[in-house]
Amino acid sequence: MSNADTKKIDLHSHTTASDGGLSPTDLVRKAVSVGIGTLAITDHDTVDGLPEAMQAAQERGVRVIPGVEFGIEMKGTEVHMLGYFLDTENPALLAKLSELREGRLHRGRRMVERLAALGLDISWERVDEIAAGSVGRPHIARAMIERGHVATIDEAFEKYLARGRPAYIPRANLTMEECIALIHHADGVAVLAHPTYVNDLESVLPRLVDAGLDGIETYYGRYTQDTIARIEALARKYGLLRTGGSDYHGLGEGSHADLGSVNVPPECLVELEQRARDRKSGVRA
Ligand code: AMP
Ligand code: ZN
Ligand code: FE
Ligand code: FE
Repeated sequence: MSNADTKKIDLHSHTTASDGGLSPTDLVRKAVSVGIGTLAITDHDTVDGLPEAMQAAQERGVRVIPGVEFGIEMKGTEVHMLGYFLDTENPALLAKLSELREGRLHRGRRMVERLAALGLDISWERVDEIAAGSVGRPHIARAMIERGHVATIDEAFEKYLARGRPAYIPRANLTMEECIALIHHADGVAVLAHPTYVNDLESVLPRLVDAGLDGIETYYGRYTQDTIARIEALARKYGLLRTGGSDYHGLGEGSHADLGSVNVPPECLVELEQRARDRKSGVRA
């Protein structure tokens, strides 16, 4: 077993390309410092952080797996889907990602208008400046903190930005079929993210499996042993790959786990890589 195999694995993380707090280079630096050997970067609706991360990783002897995190619409709620080992130059993928980011801009502007109507002024220009990429609610929250409207990102979500709160506006999302097909056509592997957030998981999962889902994020954040055992059983039942990660955002808000803090069994990575190879070679559609 080489040294890289004994190091930690973290397959879910964010950078400043979306709503993370660390640049791709700083995230890779941090990964090295906490003993990670393999890191997947899974920014929301963008792969723009990957070239810089790959460069930084090469210089530091750590491996970065290309990833992305999508939102899909399901029964009026949003479910997240991770794509791994995608061809980040696939034209259909790039076109869809830029469409999704356009949708985020439009939605972000509307949320700023909602906040204004509630008497909470922030400028859209400032939100856009903070985001500098794939704009999301955490960027709006940071602009609100700057203006003294709230003290923390969590407070901004709880009072205004979370689903069902007064400034919330849903994003334009993909359907599950569209999302999984997009990932597969870019030779990637489709994995259901943080499945405990999914309402009625047991009825949703068979539909995702029918649409071609490859895996389920089994080791996540602060999942307990009981939760992990339940998801492992679902993975077995539906023949799904298992993945895991921290969903590290580097914003210090405490709502996500620390980078590298999730224990991902090494065989999960081996099987994930095998699936990616099978897809690229056409063994699996
Ligand atoms: P968006 O992509 O604009 O829909 O925003 C979703 C992102 O906001 C998630 O990826 C999290 O990083 C963050 N988030 C969601 N809920 C909360 C919360 N309650 N407190 C802090 N951050 C949150
Ligand atoms: Zn996020
Ligand atoms: Fe997510
Ligand atoms: Fe995430």
